[in-house]
Amino acid sequence: MKILCEVLVVNRFTHANRTPWSVKSTLALGYKGRSLDSTGNGKDELQIILFTPKIKKGQCYKVKDNIQTIHTKYVLDGKATIAFKKPSQNLLIKCDPIQLKGFLQTLKLGMEDKDVINLRLNTVTAMAQKSKLQTKMAINRHCDYPIKAFPRYLQSLTINNTQLLKLSYHICSLRNLTHLDVSSNKLRKLPVELGRLHLSKLVLHDNNLGEMDDWSFLNGSKLRDSLRELDLSANDLTCLPLPVVKCHKLVNLNLNYNNLTHLPFAIRRLRRLRSLHVSENKLKSLPAAIDDLRIEILDVWRNSFKGLNVLEAHRLAFASDADGASTHSPEPLWLQAAQAVAQYELPIDSLPAILIQLIAEAPKCSCGKLCYALDKKHIIERVGQPKFVNIKNLTYSREHMIYSDVVICGNNCSISNQCKNLFSALIN
Ligand SMILES: [Zn+2]
Repeated sequence: MKILCEVLVVNRFTHANRTPWSVKSTLALGYKGRSLDSTGNGKDELQIILFTPKIKKGQCYKVKDNIQTIHTKYVLDGKATIAFKKPSQNLLIKCDPIQLKGFLQTLKLGMEDKDVINLRLNTVTAMAQKSKLQTKMAINRHCDYPIKAFPRYLQSLTINNTQLLKLSYHICSLRNLTHLDVSSNKLRKLPVELGRLHLSKLVLHDNNLGEMDDWSFLNGSKLRDSLRELDLSANDLTCLPLPVVKCHKLVNLNLNYNNLTHLPFAIRRLRRLRSLHVSENKLKSLPAAIDDLRIEILDVWRNSFKGLNVLEAHRLAFASDADGASTHSPEPLWLQAAQAVAQYELPIDSLPAILIQLIAEAPKCSCGKLCYALDKKHIIERVGQPKFVNIKNLTYSREHMIYSDVVICGNNCSISNQCKNLFSALIN
């Protein structure tokens, strides 16, 4: 039998590495004919042959009475070491765990002289590395789903239209995976382990994730620091999961075909976002923070944008006057801390993570001041009209104007007074 693996060869006496690091190799195990002895009898000998890019003809290691130890403690992690007596070398093997286990089991049978190995090694050669390093896999039918395991070195995995209900732990352990597309399945939730992958592209189009309440996989630091493209379209989402705004490297975000009525003010945290697709939703407005983003493509085609309701906005703008003086409970410590940062212009890098998060996600008043612990009365919906100064391509339904929600930092804000004057003028 043959396995494709990575092998580091170490000489136990000189501690010199025959290979400077783990190199892609083939390990073959089987019987090789020995030259005939004087009586004309030949006996087969069990051998392991190592092929590396430098040892193309293969280095033979006798098995019988020649193996000092086999370390199998980490075989489930795909690692094992075989120490030979002659030459005094250790082979440090890294391989797909299932293949490695099979190889070691066959080796054990061979060492016990159980004649189970049919393979003749006389003509054996190294396996083509190409076949091993399968880096892409696409599954479009249920029957194509691998029964045992996915190839360990996969970088791109697509599983479409297979009625998939959950992502297996095995998928979440494919450490080389950068592209995962599980469109058009039946996923209702995603495991937290998904956050351990360095994905740059995650396509979850057409699943049932609108019912999911735990999005903590997006808090996984590896995923959060690598994700550039996220497709959550057609999932019956009614609100944008907040952990999405923490994926600070996001460039493309697709939220088409959902039931979103609002986008959070915290979306301004996505400083690298270049394309935002929210067509075919139920957006009534956009957060004013949309003007803080530098988006190249904004698609809000087919939404439910509605203009301001003057009476309602007027009532809200004045309500803040009425009970402005009545609340004098002490402000929580985190709020005082956040305000102190602004007041003393402290460098943001030196702050605790929780404060950085507060500051990055806090809505901004039109006057530029950050608003924490926001009361509903401080948000006036659908009063503004975004300027879209930073947006290069805007797609929207021309029959509807686009409105934005505005935040007002307090009664003394200059914007607040402008609003009041405007409303008074409109009502009278
Ligand atoms: Zn203000």
